[in-house]
Amino acid sequence: MVDPIGDGEVAHNYVGGEWREATGGESLNVENPATGDQLGSIAFSSADDEDEAIALANGAFEEWSTTAVEERIQPLFRFKQLLEEHQESLAEVLVTEHGKTKAEAMGEIRRGIENVEVACGIPTMMQAGHLPHAAPNIDETAVRQPLGTVVAVTPFNFPAMIPLWFLPYAVATGNTFVLKPSERDPFTANRIASLVDEAGFPDGVVNVVHGGPDTVNRLITHDGIEAVSFVGSTPIAQHVYETAAGAGKRVQAQGGAKNHVVVSANANLQFAAEQTCSSAFANAGQRCLANPVAVVEDEVYDEFAELLVDEARAMEIGSGLEEGTDMGPLVSGPHRDSVLEYVETGVEEGAELLLDGREQEVPEAGYHLGATVFGDVDPDATIAREEIFGPVLALIRAEDFDDAVSLVNRSQFGNAASLFTSDGGEARQFRLEVDAGNVGVNVGTAAAMAFFHFGGDKDSFFGDLHAQGDDAVRFYTDETVYIERWPDN
Ligand code: NAD
Repeated sequence: MVDPIGDGEVAHNYVGGEWREATGGESLNVENPATGDQLGSIAFSSADDEDEAIALANGAFEEWSTTAVEERIQPLFRFKQLLEEHQESLAEVLVTEHGKTKAEAMGEIRRGIENVEVACGIPTMMQAGHLPHAAPNIDETAVRQPLGTVVAVTPFNFPAMIPLWFLPYAVATGNTFVLKPSERDPFTANRIASLVDEAGFPDGVVNVVHGGPDTVNRLITHDGIEAVSFVGSTPIAQHVYETAAGAGKRVQAQGGAKNHVVVSANANLQFAAEQTCSSAFANAGQRCLANPVAVVEDEVYDEFAELLVDEARAMEIGSGLEEGTDMGPLVSGPHRDSVLEYVETGVEEGAELLLDGREQEVPEAGYHLGATVFGDVDPDATIAREEIFGPVLALIRAEDFDDAVSLVNRSQFGNAASLFTSDGGEARQFRLEVDAGNVGVNVGTAAAMAFFHFGGDKDSFFGDLHAQGDDAVRFYTDETVYIERWPDN
């Protein structure tokens, strides 16, 4: 059953098919960011809790990895159905502890379910290859085998979707799985674990262990863990990548972002303004695929800026559970303070404040902040370069299309970039020249479907194989090649 968060509920670990109290001693309050009220708390795990979870996951591996693949995907089909049946109540838990709107939460769960659907195709996706007569009288066969127990460490901003970038593929390929969700919104992960339980995965195949940095650092170097998937900010992604790889683990670590849209002089400006507004401010700007910088050709800059500010000003700000809300609160008080500091910095560094989010009407309680739009931002300004992760959009003026592309490529990040244009030649040039992992043309938010891989370039990604799709299958398996000759045959 997926219920709303109970008063004073504690987020426990889900280990070996049971709910267990974490014994690390440390705990953290979980708040409703729309009201500031305490919803419950999370107890952090001790090293003993983590050892136990990994031992149980290791213990479940032998039987699970040798279970017929057709049988292995049956709980995944049930899991998909349960996620759909409980999508609405799961979305309510998610909104209550994260703050995004119900429509955004429903959308993120849908994107998570997509990954379960794709992983149900593992019997086909996991096949590698067979070549008779690879050499004289020799046949060769490549097979993909699961690794063992794998861990995923996930961020606060998509507490349902991001764990589902990893869990379905990891277990479908025959691995056992430990999730360390964000400590800021742990109840969504626990509701997902209760659906895992109901779906009938054998005990120990899927586990959830709560904690903070100490738990992460122990898990990613643990002898019982073979591979580490991480999603979070760039400094932590780099730390996890280096630490886990140093301990001999296979690692994929997705980091932070500062994505750009380019608005060409020949774009449909109304469409581009609507899409840019939604991309910059959905989830209150707390998305790794948000486009918080718009690089606009000089010729259309003023017209685009006006359209965009009109769109942004019209947004309703409030509780994510209320009908008609376009933008919910930021996840916490300290995070809102950090976004406000960036707004101050933007003003101090001389950008033109076209829309001041601090002055928009927002509910008094909670961590709301209106949308801010800065105009004529210097490409070297702090607000143009650093990830703010809030509802702050910077407009940069570009001399022409070539100048716009080179401004995008100056970024240290490379998660995504989008172009608005009506010129196929420009679209082609953009695809070829822009340095980002997800590239959109006339698409505000370049989010790949689950059957394509998802991941960025430059400081937005550390590793080789990305999340989702074929990359996920290759990440969670080792390839062995059998070379056979039968001389008497
Ligand atoms: P975060 O880096 O603070 O935390 C992510 C995870 O790392 C959490 O589970 C946390 O417990 C753990 N962690 C935090 N500090 C740690 C430390 N010192 N050592 C070890 N582990 C530590 O990220 P966040 O604030 O939860 O999420 C927002 C960030 O995630 C943004 O930078 C955003 O761009 C990024 N993100 C990236 C993608 C992507 O696909 N590239 C997707 C979503 C979010």
